[in-house]
Amino acid sequence: MAGAEAGAEAGAEAGTEAGMEAGALEAAGEAEPGGALRRKRQTALRGVGDLCKVCFMQRLNKNSSQGAMGGAGRAIVVGAGFGGLAAAVRLGARGYRVTVLDRLDQAGGRARVFRDQGFVFDAGPTVVTAPFLFEELWALCGRKLSDDIDLRPVAPFYRIRFNDGEVFDYSGDAEAMRAQIGRLNPDDVAGYEAFLAKSERIFNVGFQQLADVPFGKVWDMLKIVPDMAMLESWRTVYGLVSRHIRDERLRQVLSFHPLLVGGNPFSTTSIYTLIAFLERKWGVHFPMGGTGALVQGLCKLIEGQGGEVRLNTSVERIEVENGRATGVRLADGAFLPAEVVVSNADAAWTYRHLIAPEHRKTWTDRRLEKARYSMGLFVWYFGTRKQYPDVAHHTILLGPRYKELLEDIFEKKVLADDFSLYLHRPTATDPALAPEGCDGFYVLSPVPHLDAGIDWTERAEKYRRAISAELDRTMLPGVEENLVTSRVLTPQMFQDEYLSFKGAAFSIEPVLTQSAYFRPHNESEDIAGLYLVGAGTHPGAGMPGVLCSAKVLDRIVPEPSVARVRV
Ligand SMILES: Cc1cc2nc3c(=O)[nH]c(=O)nc-3n(C[C@H](O)[C@H](O)[C@H](O)COP(=O)(O)OP(=O)(O)OC[C@H]3O[C@@H](n4cnc5c(N)ncnc54)[C@H](O)[C@@H]3O)c2cc1C
Repeated sequence: MAGAEAGAEAGAEAGTEAGMEAGALEAAGEAEPGGALRRKRQTALRGVGDLCKVCFMQRLNKNSSQGAMGGAGRAIVVGAGFGGLAAAVRLGARGYRVTVLDRLDQAGGRARVFRDQGFVFDAGPTVVTAPFLFEELWALCGRKLSDDIDLRPVAPFYRIRFNDGEVFDYSGDAEAMRAQIGRLNPDDVAGYEAFLAKSERIFNVGFQQLADVPFGKVWDMLKIVPDMAMLESWRTVYGLVSRHIRDERLRQVLSFHPLLVGGNPFSTTSIYTLIAFLERKWGVHFPMGGTGALVQGLCKLIEGQGGEVRLNTSVERIEVENGRATGVRLADGAFLPAEVVVSNADAAWTYRHLIAPEHRKTWTDRRLEKARYSMGLFVWYFGTRKQYPDVAHHTILLGPRYKELLEDIFEKKVLADDFSLYLHRPTATDPALAPEGCDGFYVLSPVPHLDAGIDWTERAEKYRRAISAELDRTMLPGVEENLVTSRVLTPQMFQDEYLSFKGAAFSIEPVLTQSAYFRPHNESEDIAGLYLVGAGTHPGAGMPGVLCSAKVLDRIVPEPSVARVRV
């Protein structure tokens, strides 16, 4: 690390772009003997670097009156969620000296890991899609994802259990899907094919062309309007599915995906139907050792680059001087200066609590209060002393009501007596996540966020017991008597532990009027040198979303070497 820094600084001292680049690359080369990493970086970054220089020069002209940036390519990332870790890898690959700060005692954010008595529970994401986004990060460090992570395909992707006990195995196998659909309603097979073809067209625009571009200007939004109109983005996910599918159960099977990223299928823009194609093309995966293995892998990449992930470190404030972020103030009063500050903390929380109101015209407290937020989640992690070998890795238990339940959660904000659940049984793929002969699970129930005024300290155990009874009736007979370990996460804890505004599980809701340009921008609207990644910014929640938000930074954060020229 010391040698790497010295290399970068030697370049910086030369005070020239070429000098700084040489220093940064020297640092890169040192992280891997023989300079293989250096060569990889040179190749990987050439295109991005050129683009960034253009962006930077444009902004240099715009902000030329703002004075010098100072420093030598120091970047601070607030938050070690997937978005923050990916941002750190990308900035590190470009020669920034990166420090990631997180207030929790482990990295991962929502993807942290709970351990108890030999059970290992991933607290959050479990459905790994778009593995290529992780592969890109490993490649930036001259490694292969498969060097560090054993990613296994999961089949079926999801087992969906209807309230009447009927089961649908949702997979990536075209023939098997046709058979499953034909079994419920033969007339919907052709409609399903048409829906999937539509999903591919939406993917080609919504993901390939829009997911990793900054929506910093109104024009960025205006120019995609024709595409969005052609793809019927004004429709909701459920609306688009229903144009192709008649059977109500199949409509539910093909429309539940927005719930995985915090959206109500009845109000989320149909752009999110691209997930159907994404899963079909690249599959659903699970890392051996759990999703936490990906978090650890990213932390190692950062350390290998000479960066640092500092835990138990709470950021109180992002300091702003003359309209530019200058660094962060920690809870203990220390000030850490940086040329680039990236916030991976919840976007609404970042603006509301980390930045003084006088520095933000766009994201005022009033606007943040008026925005719509995703639902909350009640999650119960538990281990059993017996195994349930017939339970698939991912099961969705649909309750008696669909639309009405979602209305209760998203619109009326009441805690219903019935529920639809997602049940995770990671031991179906990796038995090592529980002691021998045991099974590890989590079950999550979408619930209203904190505006509902539910006292979760009082309700949590009652609600857990109701879920337990439902699982006992449907999938896991005898579950309560066989519990070895048990803990819950409530919306109140999402607010208290992750600092998520209103305890929302997925930050700002993914409705059309809060998408792309209308989300908090990846490059702060009001503060130079401040960037946002993570669920609350563009493109949105979910691992693919937050990894793409970090990718946007490659287009908008200037090269550290160019930044140095400003001194
Ligand atoms: C239960 C659950 C299941 C999910 N399942 C899936 C799934 O299967 N597949 C999928 O793709 N997605 C899933 N998601 C969504 C996905 O996990 C999230 O969208 C994504 O992980 C959020 O990443 P992020 O980058 O926004 O950071 P977060 O995970 O929100 O992390 C932000 C970090 O910032 C830190 N922080 C905040 N404020 C400060 C501060 N002031 N100082 C220091 N640190 C601070 C927090 O401690 C936290 O660690 C799931 C989410 C949940 C909750």
